[in-house]
Amino acid sequence: MMRYVDAHCHVDQYPDPRAEVGACESAQTYTIAVTNLPREFVRTERLCVGRSFVRAAAGLHPELVARFPGAVEELLPLLARTKYVGEIGLDYTQASPNDRESQRKVLARVVATCEQLGGRVLTVHTRRAAEDALELLCDATKSSIILHWFSGSMKVLARAVEAGCFFSVNPAMARSTSGRKILEAIPGDRILTESDGPFVKHGGRELHPFEVRDALGEIARIRGSTVEEFRSIVLQNFRRAVSLGGAEDR
Ligand SMILES: [Zn+2]
Repeated sequence: MMRYVDAHCHVDQYPDPRAEVGACESAQTYTIAVTNLPREFVRTERLCVGRSFVRAAAGLHPELVARFPGAVEELLPLLARTKYVGEIGLDYTQASPNDRESQRKVLARVVATCEQLGGRVLTVHTRRAAEDALELLCDATKSSIILHWFSGSMKVLARAVEAGCFFSVNPAMARSTSGRKILEAIPGDRILTESDGPFVKHGGRELHPFEVRDALGEIARIRGSTVEEFRSIVLQNFRRAVSLGGAEDR
C-alpha cells in the first residue's frame, strides 16, 4: 500500500539510482521519477521494471531545450510508453526571446501528443513563466497537470486552480515568505508532495524521495493541519491526479 507520495524526483541524478528506487519501494513512497532528457528516461525506465512504487516519466527539461534542439523528436515517440511525462515546462530565468519561443513550441507539441494518446500525468516546471505555461497547458484537457514547485503570483495560482491543476510542494518552498504564502493558498484537494531531489536540500543535505515523510511536518504546520491529516489528503489527491491522467497505470 502506498504511504507517501513523491510527485517529482530526479532519481537518475543520485549517485546510486538503483538504491534510491529500492529505498522508495521499502518506504512505500510512490515516486514519479522525472527525467531531463529522453535518453535518461530510457535508463530510468529500465530501473523501474517490476517495481510497485516508482514510475519513470519521459521529459525534456525546459532549460535544456536550446542545447538539445533535436531532443523533442526523440521524446514524442517515448510518450506512448509511459503514463508519466516530466520534467517539461517553461523556464524564462536565463532564456533569450528565441529560447522562450523554442520552449513554448516544445511544450505545445508535448501537450498535443499527450492529448492524442488519451491523456497523461504531466509534471511541469514553470519558473518565471507560469502565465505562459498555463496558457499552453489549458489545452491539455485529458491530462492531469501537476505544477511542480510553483512560484508564480497569487493571481496565476488562482487561474491554475480554476484550470484543475495540482501542485507538488517541497520543504524548500517553506524557506521564503512567498513560498509559505503559496503553501497556505493551495486548496486542500490540489496539494501533493515532492522531494525534487537531489536538487532540494533539507537540513543541509540532499533530500531523498523516501524522506518525503520527514518533510511533511513543516508543510502541514504551515497549512494548520496535522501530519497524518496532510499525509492522507496527499494520498487521496494523488490517486485522483493519477486516475485523471488517461491511460492505465504502467
Ligand atoms: Zn525537477
